[in-house]
Formats: sequence, structure tokens, C-alpha cells
Amino acid sequence: MSSTMGFDRLSADADIESLEAPESIEELSQLVRRELELLGEDPQRQGLLKTPERVALSLAWLTRGYEQDVRKVIGDAVFEETHENMVMVRDIELYSLCEHHMLPFYGKAHVAYIPNGRIVGLSKLPRIVDVFAQRLQVQERLTDQIAEAICEILDPLGVGVVIEAFHLCMMMRGVQKQNSKTITSALRGVFRDDAMTRDEFLRLAHGG
Ligand code: ZN
Repeated sequence: MSSTMGFDRLSADADIESLEAPESIEELSQLVRRELELLGEDPQRQGLLKTPERVALSLAWLTRGYEQDVRKVIGDAVFEETHENMVMVRDIELYSLCEHHMLPFYGKAHVAYIPNGRIVGLSKLPRIVDVFAQRLQVQERLTDQIAEAICEILDPLGVGVVIEAFHLCMMMRGVQKQNSKTITSALRGVFRDDAMTRDEFLRLAHGG
């Protein structure tokens, strides 16, 4: 009974920011230990002794994006620049957890924008992807959040984000479709309103 209440408390509070704290890791470890029991396992057997703590630390790391703020991640890496052509970073590796099953989805993000007087250090685009990927997500929202963050920080002429990902919850269970890739896009500004820009972006994103 008490462990069931523990699960409820954790999800109800959404107190995930404090997971890095040792006491949260300890509490989460206890829940994982109970989870193992409910699955019919023996948490005392050799191979599983440290598993609850490993799972707790792993989950805390995989969801550390909750503690990160995009503006802090960008820092002072925004520069004045008159360049007005498309800037794109393609094939950004992406790992996230689906919020429905807490199973991984993984794939690639392609992120582009057209500056309006300001550019951001190129290495920051993958960092923005990580801030939002390292949370419990649905791919659609993840795609939107990345586009929105770039809009807010750079106020560019437009932003385009495409994510292509494989969802383990579809591959290992449910419909068991191992080869289905889910593709989502978020288009802002000229990427949405101008057909030529949109076409150029989608062609580049898909390897053209
Ligand atoms: Zn899922």
C-alpha cells in the first residue's frame, strides 16, 4: 500500500527537479526495488542488488532537462550578424523518453533558421534540442518547443525543425512496427509562409 502511494506522490508532485538530490534518488530507488518485486523478480539476487539505484540515477540523468533553462544554456553565444541566409544543423542525434510509456524514442533532429540580425553559436542548436529531449515528451511537443525556443531567443525571420524518430513503445510492444519512423515538423515565420524557403529547408532536411 505504502509503495503504491509512493508512485502516486511522485507523479502527482511532478517534483522531478529535485531528483538529483540524494534523498530523491534514495526514494526513487525504493520504488524501483518495489517495482522489481511486482514484476516477479527478486531484488536481493546478485545481479539486481544495485539496479534500483542505477535506474534512479539513470532516470534523473535522462530527465535533467527539467532543470535546464535554454537561456542559460545559450549564455552569451548570441552574436550580431547581417547574414540573412538559411543556417542549418542537420542530423542532430536525439534521445528522449515518451511520456506515455517512459520508453525511449530516438532519432535525428534537423534545425534551421534564417537570422534577422542575430545568430547563435552553432553548437548551441544541439544543446537546445537536448534541453527539451531530456524530459518526458511527445515528439510533437518536443518539435514545437525547440522551434519556439529559437524564435524567442533569436527573433529570426523563420525557424524550421524536423524530427524523425523511432519509438520503442511502438517497436517492442503495441503494434510492434519496427520500421515505422515518425516524422514531425514545426515551421515558423518564412518557413511557414514562403513556399521556396519551406521547400529548400525540407529538401536539405531530407538529405537533398
Ligand atoms: Zn510511448
